[in-house]
This record gives sequence, C-alpha cells and structure tokens, in this order.
Amino acid sequence: MIFRQLFDPQSSTYTYLLADEATREALLIDPVFEQARRDAALVDELGLGLKWTLETHVHADHVTAAWLLREKLGSRIGSSKAGGADGADRYLQAGDRVEFGKHHLKALATPGHTNGCMTYVLDDQSAAFTGDALLIRGCGRTDFQQGDARVLFRSVREQIFALPERCLLYPGHDYRGLTVTSVGEEKLYNPRLGEAVGEGDFVGYMTHLGLPHPKQMEAAVPANLKCGKPIHQTAQEPEWAPLTYTFAGIWEVQPHWLEEHLREVQIVDVREPAEFNGPLGHVPGAALIPLARLSHEAQTLSKSKPIVAVCRSGARSAQATVLLGKAGFDKVANLSGGMLRWRAQRFAVEGGTE
Ligand code: FE
Repeated sequence: MIFRQLFDPQSSTYTYLLADEATREALLIDPVFEQARRDAALVDELGLGLKWTLETHVHADHVTAAWLLREKLGSRIGSSKAGGADGADRYLQAGDRVEFGKHHLKALATPGHTNGCMTYVLDDQSAAFTGDALLIRGCGRTDFQQGDARVLFRSVREQIFALPERCLLYPGHDYRGLTVTSVGEEKLYNPRLGEAVGEGDFVGYMTHLGLPHPKQMEAAVPANLKCGKPIHQTAQEPEWAPLTYTFAGIWEVQPHWLEEHLREVQIVDVREPAEFNGPLGHVPGAALIPLARLSHEAQTLSKSKPIVAVCRSGARSAQATVLLGKAGFDKVANLSGGMLRWRAQRFAVEGGTE
C-alpha cells in the first residue's frame, strides 16, 4: 500500500493519502482547501487516480478540499451521515466500507467531539484514522458543535481502544510535531483518556478547559457543511509564484518563497508606522503604506512588478490585496501568516528587536 501523511501548517491538520499499489486507486482523508493543488500534484506524480475524499467530521478549524478535488480530479466525496453536510456523493454510517483497489477502510462511529465524527480503520487493523476523537496524548474539544464529553469517552474506550494494541493511530491534528501513536500507547499514556482515568474525571476535565473560540469557526463550519464549495469562483491561476488560494478568496505566498525572491517583488507593508518600526521589524526592502492610505498611494507602485502585501498576522494585508486588485494590479499576493510567521520562521528583518 502507498501511504503519505501530509500537513497543513496553518491549521496543523494532517491529511492522509492511501492508495493501492496495483490498481493505483487512491483516497484522501481530511484534505485541506488551501492544499488542494499540492495534494493534486502528489496524486498526479505518484500516478494515482483519486477515487474518494473522506471527512472524519465537519471541521471547525479549516475548510475541506473535498469539493475542489472533485472538480479537479473527479473524486467522490464521502462524509458521515450524522455530520449533515450537503453535497456529498456517499453518506457513511458505522460498519460501511470504502474500497480502494484490494484495500478498504471501515467506518466506526466515534461521536463526542462532534456528533458526526468517524474513525476509519484499515482492512487489516494495522492503522486507524481518528480525526479529532483521539489525538496523540489528547483529544478534540467537546464544548461546541454538539460536543459531548461523556459520548466521546465511550467512543474512545469502546470503539478505538477495542482495536488491537499494535494498531497505529493517525490523528486529525497535532500541535507539537508528533505524527503517530498506537492503541497500546494511548491506553497507557493518554492523560485524558488512558485506562487509568475514569469517565467522571474526564467529563470534569473537559468541562473546565476554558479554550478560546476557534478563529476559523464562523467561516469553516458553514463551508464544510457544503463540502467546501466556495462562494466565489477561483480566479485564473497566477504563474509568477507558487501561490495558494484561500477559501476567503485571497492569493497567498509562503514566507520561504518570498525570502528567496525579495528583489523580484514590491513588498508593501500596510501596518502603522509604529508597528513597522516596532519590535517585529519589517521584511528587508519593504515600503510602508498603511492600509488606510493604500487606495490613495497605490499609484506610486509599479504595475509590472508583482506586489506582496504584509502586515502583522496577514489579515490587514489580505484586505490590501483586495484593494490593490480593485486598483488594477493583477499580480498581488498576501504574505501568509504576516510578520508573526516571518519572525517565527527566523527570516531576516530590518529593524525590530530579538
Ligand atoms: Fe475538529
């Protein structure tokens, strides 16, 4: 079997590619909207035919690429019946099998994080894909989207922990750099759901987590309830850089690309002067045009050289790309993650403090 674990750094989501060696039939579990081009390129380079995209649940932290991949590659969308998403090709229930070549995944109902959560188990029980029901030494939250700690406890104990101890568990996310665990390992070491923990303790713990509201939730959940069908049609694919198109309709460039192409673009920093000269510093060679002045001062920019807009986190600069597009600039992208990610990845800055 062909197996690849893929990662989306923005949402810390894992996407899994599984394929049958002989027939080249493939499926993707939990593909991410912004990574659809990457995933399609990988499927193509490996000579695979994407038969299915499967969702472990209706996500609140990213938008699925299911719809986009169906458009691009003709894959079919599998989604849990209890999840309630519109537009899937097949609605899965506990015990259903999704075939790819001589392999299949079997769906287990593992509600509790959301009421439609499914875990997909490989035919020989050597691996299972748990979504957010069970994370490595943790679990998904239970405080929104019909979450229920008691239900989650039973799903993990009665469904996931009933798999063989050696069964590898691949989660929907990890925020610490871990990639895989096993049933035996989680029974021993999961501080929330391990065998030493009782249901009452787990419920109490989950009730008092006090987590902030997920940033993406307002946009992500409605979009995922439509299998990730975008409201706006995707514009022509730009060729001046390997850009990613976000669900919000913004073209983005990654920091590592910008670092290697600083001289080929105009960098426009749309923060306020105090931020531009503040502790985060700015990208070398960046011009300062605060967002409020951008429409007014856009004519000082060249139309022939691409523009990369930058701000602190990437939100104001996303608005800047829209304004510049309206002003007639056609090669414009947002720096993904803004100065925060630029600094976190330790690229060079002008000004700023350590
Ligand atoms: Fe989730």
